[in-house]
Amino acid sequence: MLKKLVIVVLALLLVGCGRNENELVMVTEAGFAPYEFYENGEIVGVDIEIGKEIAKELGKELVVKDIAFDFIINEVKSGKADFGAAGMSITDERKEEVDFSIEYVVSNQVVVVRKDSDIKTLDDIKDKTISVQLGTTADMYVNENYKDAKVIAQKKYLAAAEDVKAGKSDCIVMDQLPAQELVKENDELKILDGILFTDKYGMIVKKGNQELLDTINKVLQRLIDENKIEEYVIKYSE
Ligand code: GLN
Repeated sequence: MLKKLVIVVLALLLVGCGRNENELVMVTEAGFAPYEFYENGEIVGVDIEIGKEIAKELGKELVVKDIAFDFIINEVKSGKADFGAAGMSITDERKEEVDFSIEYVVSNQVVVVRKDSDIKTLDDIKDKTISVQLGTTADMYVNENYKDAKVIAQKKYLAAAEDVKAGKSDCIVMDQLPAQELVKENDELKILDGILFTDKYGMIVKKGNQELLDTINKVLQRLIDENKIEEYVIKYSE
């Protein structure tokens, strides 16, 4: 009897990790405007608006957890968070670790340089120092395609921007809308013409969590049909 009770309690601790049933925990990296960023000390953005709709659909309260981008998949895999929403691109490698929702954003990868940079075309970056955010598709892309480049992988885009401004790095490869926001805040920087590749964003759940995935997909489809995602993008790009 006692043994059984101990096992049940241990199991509850392992599964629940002290989690509140009324909360839906979303994990993100809040340095990615307009999708997730801090405004007056609060995390806001497109993914947060969507997350709130998902929570509403489930009758739960959304809790947003801000961690390093390269830890997001593990946080979801381990069940510490219910889902991940971080402008995360759908890739085959990631699909081996987590399940993705339907696509909800199409994003281009662009190059950010100093305005006075001698980099004039996309082709010029191939043997330069390139900054990326650790664990992103840009990180994978430049490592695979630019063998002669030096790659600096930072935890935060802001750190990458500081490196480029200080001349420690020549450019950043990153998603277009976050690049536009970064350039707005940093007068010395600009975006080069052209795109390197195109990505599609999905939200992630632990493999096999079909119930939550179905709800996420239902909400995403409704928001896409109602043009809400575009509205959120405009709202958070101002
Ligand atoms: N879309 C890119 C990726 O999934 C970058 C996302 C991000 O930095 N938040 O890798």
